[in-house]
Amino acid sequence: MDEFTLIERLIAPVAGSRADVCLGIGDDGAVVRPPPGEALVLVLDTLVEAVHFPRGFPPGDIGYRSAATNLSDLAAMGATPLWATLGLTLPQPDVEWVRAFMAGLQAALAPHEVQLVGGDTTRGPLCLSLQLTGSVPESLALRRNGARPGDRLFVSGFLGDAAAALASLSMPEPMPPGAHYLRERFARPTARVGLGQALRGLATSCIDISDGLLGDIGHLLAYSACGADLRVDHLPLSPALVELLDADTALAHALSGGDDYELCFTLPPATPPAVVGALRQHCAVTEIGLITTERGQLQLRDANGPVTPPGPTGYRHFP
Ligand code: ADP
Ligand code: MG
Repeated sequence: MDEFTLIERLIAPVAGSRADVCLGIGDDGAVVRPPPGEALVLVLDTLVEAVHFPRGFPPGDIGYRSAATNLSDLAAMGATPLWATLGLTLPQPDVEWVRAFMAGLQAALAPHEVQLVGGDTTRGPLCLSLQLTGSVPESLALRRNGARPGDRLFVSGFLGDAAAALASLSMPEPMPPGAHYLRERFARPTARVGLGQALRGLATSCIDISDGLLGDIGHLLAYSACGADLRVDHLPLSPALVELLDADTALAHALSGGDDYELCFTLPPATPPAVVGALRQHCAVTEIGLITTERGQLQLRDANGPVTPPGPTGYRHFP
């Protein structure tokens, strides 16, 4: 099957449809109509085989994951997802692989009514590059640089599940039930798109956790020129993580493991409890610390006082 047949038979039919797309897949470029009065937010994520997922990973999961990581970036900006373009690099035109990949991609994009409006298909080592465009009223985009001393630090969902799953991919079958939950958290992360939009006008700063909590909080603090006190005994850990791992390993994954795709954000000290409560309609939201004046200092504490972090502090491609 050549690339044109592949696009026509397997990609275009599942691309979705939106009223604001004047011209989708098929021409030299896509033509779209931005929402009146809103600014556009552009994000891109690349998944490379053997770097971001193991060889032989199910194509449906790869498709889902590539959409979820991008949706998570839009969520962290408080944006509404709109359109996607896809760079598909394949070792060979494997029809079943592409069909399953597209099904996974659509499973993640369809709930947000994102339309795939174009892309590029080439031969080479397996690599997926997805670009999403979203929109947000310009003054309400969530940024990394607005945290202020006294702000309260929050995180969505559970931390460390995906990192624990990666570490346990080689576990012998049958895996305990909790391991399947962890694996799903790695393969099909849930982008916190609704929460991100709900944080518009409320959060003073926001970042999504892709490289590990400590590393990503570090970015937020650097941009905001603040420090933070982090309560390690308040970090939200899933029942499966607590059941399957010893306490130190679970904490290390929660602090430094990547791929959580949760949102970490700050709220002003005077935020009413009812406002925080309303955020919990979208997903779990846990208070994990406080922003301080100590520029760049991330102090970990538990109920007894300061503690030192176990393990490294964030994934880097070029250490
Ligand atoms: P061109 O040669 O003008 O760049 P292509 O032949 O690469 O065009 O692509 C034809 C059409 O198919 C274009 O509209 C392009 O956006 C779309 N397309 C190509 N690859 C993909 C893909 N992987 N996903 C979605 N659309 C694609
Ligand atoms: Mg062209």
